[in-house]
Amino acid sequence: MKDQLKDRLSIVKERMDAACRRSGRDAGEVSLLAVSKRKPMEAILALYEAGQRDFGENYVQELREKADCLPGDIRWHMIGHLQRNKVKYIAPYIAMIHSLDSPELAYAIEKEAAKCDRVIPVLIEVNVAMEESKYGVLLKEAPELAALVRTLPHVQLRGFMTSAPIVKDPEENRFVFRKLRQLSVDMNLENDNNEKVDVLSMGMSGDYEIAIEEGATLVRIGTSLFGARD
Ligand SMILES: *Cc1c(COP(=O)(O)O)cnc(C)c1O
Repeated sequence: MKDQLKDRLSIVKERMDAACRRSGRDAGEVSLLAVSKRKPMEAILALYEAGQRDFGENYVQELREKADCLPGDIRWHMIGHLQRNKVKYIAPYIAMIHSLDSPELAYAIEKEAAKCDRVIPVLIEVNVAMEESKYGVLLKEAPELAALVRTLPHVQLRGFMTSAPIVKDPEENRFVFRKLRQLSVDMNLENDNNEKVDVLSMGMSGDYEIAIEEGATLVRIGTSLFGARD
């Protein structure tokens, strides 16, 4: 199992590099988040041994259990829908929250981050394709939430996240990634006094190469690394 996981990690990295080359980007601009939800600790450790340090989880309870047992230098990312009352459990150590989708959640993160005396990096989750089934704010709502986050001293807006629709041909999602990229370009033009919001968390196993071509700086990969989930 270990060797297979390591092989998959090299394959994904090669494909990421190839997508960077195709689009004239530097390979160092795009980082890999290994999405380990519903996967055992041994699988995470195998990738850890191969040098992977950023892991993403969708459920607070599962994230806590894994963070408690696994090496302390792993950077844990919360990528699933987050309830306000659960922020306190992850606030002390979470490296980044990708799923900020409401003012109420932003205030909850502010409160818990302040208690821990730290600043938590966040991404605003955007439902670019306006799917009924998905969390996230609409593109047109993102600037308002971004402006709110900028008033909170213990929450640092780092960029945007989206999950594109499930499609047969990943080319169909190119416009989704392009729109999210445009949002971050526009926001940085408007706010040239502030820190740049430069993280674009977009692209999963089925479409990460297209996402990289369209400007992703972080891809979230589960299945292509760990195999299918039950
Ligand atoms: C599960 C999940 C992923 C990884 O999906 P794969 O298709 O398995 O690569 C990425 N992002 C989010 C938000 C997820 O829930």
